[in-house]
Amino acid sequence: MDKALDIRHLRTVEPRAFKVFTHHQLDQIEQLGGLPEEIRFDMRVVANVLPFRVNEYVIEELIDWTRVPDDPIFQLVFPQREMLEPEAFSRMATLLRGEPSRAEIKALATELRGDLNPHPAGQMELNVPALDDEAVDGLQHKYRETVLFFPSQGQVCHSYCTFCFRWAQFVGDKDLRFALGEADTLHRYLREHPEVSDLLVTGGDPMVMKTHHLEGYLSALTAPEFDHIQTIRIGTKSLTFWPYRFVSDADSDQLLRLLEKLVRAGKHVALMAHYNHWRELETPIAREAIRRVRDTGAVIRSQGPLLRHINDNADDWARMWRTQVRLGIVPYYMFVERDTGARRYFEVPLVRAWEIYRGAMQQLSGLGRTARGPSMSANPGKVEIQGVTEIHGEKLFVLRMIQGRNPDWVQRPFFARYDEQATWLDQLTPAFGEEKFFFEE
Ligand SMILES: *Cc1c(COP(=O)(O)O)cnc(C)c1O
Ligand code: SF4
Repeated sequence: MDKALDIRHLRTVEPRAFKVFTHHQLDQIEQLGGLPEEIRFDMRVVANVLPFRVNEYVIEELIDWTRVPDDPIFQLVFPQREMLEPEAFSRMATLLRGEPSRAEIKALATELRGDLNPHPAGQMELNVPALDDEAVDGLQHKYRETVLFFPSQGQVCHSYCTFCFRWAQFVGDKDLRFALGEADTLHRYLREHPEVSDLLVTGGDPMVMKTHHLEGYLSALTAPEFDHIQTIRIGTKSLTFWPYRFVSDADSDQLLRLLEKLVRAGKHVALMAHYNHWRELETPIAREAIRRVRDTGAVIRSQGPLLRHINDNADDWARMWRTQVRLGIVPYYMFVERDTGARRYFEVPLVRAWEIYRGAMQQLSGLGRTARGPSMSANPGKVEIQGVTEIHGEKLFVLRMIQGRNPDWVQRPFFARYDEQATWLDQLTPAFGEEKFFFEE
């Protein structure tokens, strides 16, 4: 059984100052001192290529150091040797064993990152909208009703996930960042697009921003001219990485009042909370943060990828979703790990992903079965694996387009040949001897 889930008595929590470690400070993390030097060197090698950033709350309260290296939260934030291909690893290791300059490290890191598909699903080129015929960098508009907004102050996170699909923007290459400085541009774009009902503020993590920045972007949306914006979603992992954001930071109360103001103005406000493991929900501060957000009238919906080494079993998902339902969080998406970064380390075959999803669903009541998935955010849209079946002797995957670049594709079922190893849409081929999937025509 889950341990006691009563959140009523947890209102007193000690505030904490935000202290963060980057790859230059790996050696200052006391808890790593107990690990063999070899493993610490491996971490330094990987942390020079993939993003690394972790704060003291995650180190002290989320990681169970007696279970390292298998601990899921340790795997979530600390680099592991196998996250790089052996050749890439040994090139960086060899370089670091000499006495390289920062420029040499940077040059090799940049080269190695280039091989890791930094921009999956054509994010950079395909979904950038225009205003007055000019590309607007900080917006993405892929699905008719939903605009993604990347506020420039929100393009980092309180810690970094080792599997991050937005990792390219954290590793220093400014050209690769989505960013938009101007609230005006956002407001103009939304004014000119009455077909948009949903604004999704994302990052990085928009909750790293000071509340007054968020206010600058969001308060204006309560005006009548933005009546078509019915839903404001904020994608965040702060409920995991820094729940103090909602409880004891200097502008926490101001943040909650902003959420409340948007709710009172008739908006559906949703925190799209990134969760990977039930352990993220267990600390008193995490529970207090959830309670306070819910008290504003905002909804918390949860989403996150399925990852080998972190959550690749049905019981952990069932326990996570069950705990969330109990805390008033609505399970929303289970994602398939994207085809970027250290994906080889984390990837799970699609058939296994579906088995885990199904195994978790079987343990829950209907209120926990609101999560769709396993879902691939691919170029044509979000594709869900509905199951494996056999039709006229051919074993196949049943798939469904739950969100599509073309609205006409939405909810179309389709079929792919069964493939035990496939981990992404581009490895699947159409069933019944067809040449192409319907969205490729
Ligand atoms: C997932 C996603 C959305 C939101 O889709 P919903 O099905 O409404 O949750 C919007 N834009 C992009 C680019 C997405 O990947
Ligand atoms: S919370 Fe999201 S954006 Fe931030 S590091 Fe993790 S996966 Fe990347």
